[in-house]
Amino acid sequence: MSKDTSKDDLACPSAPCAPGATIIGAVGGDGKVNHFKTPMVADTEFIEIAEKHGSPEARFRFSSKCEKGACTQWTGTRCGVADMVTDFMKTPEAPQKAQILPPCVIRGTCRWYAQSGDDICLSCAYVVTDGRVAAAADNC
Ligand code: SF4
Repeated sequence: MSKDTSKDDLACPSAPCAPGATIIGAVGGDGKVNHFKTPMVADTEFIEIAEKHGSPEARFRFSSKCEKGACTQWTGTRCGVADMVTDFMKTPEAPQKAQILPPCVIRGTCRWYAQSGDDICLSCAYVVTDGRVAAAADNC
């Protein structure tokens, strides 16, 4: 497994909704993200429809190129959101991690996976971009 987090071609797994972004999952009724098995691209038609129902980032997860230093979450060497998720999941308030890796259409290029490996994937379903770490469910 590659741990080269310096690569410039990694993908942000919690990106804004924008034309060309990959839709990697949808938030279910339990507040957790259901990862897609097939990648879909957000086009202008999708975005127009999605925005009529509120914040798309509250209901879907999008992926785009990791912007590294151009992103406020970049610490200088890594993605701070991934570390925030990891730290939160160690607290007593944290929900139970998934037992098995979710399907994921971007695992090969995901910034968080490159940083933290399987462990972050087991917590990924709790991350809602508009709301960040969503601990809405009691368990997996
Ligand atoms: S953390 Fe894991 S499950 Fe989440 S987007 Fe990245 S590779 Fe996929």
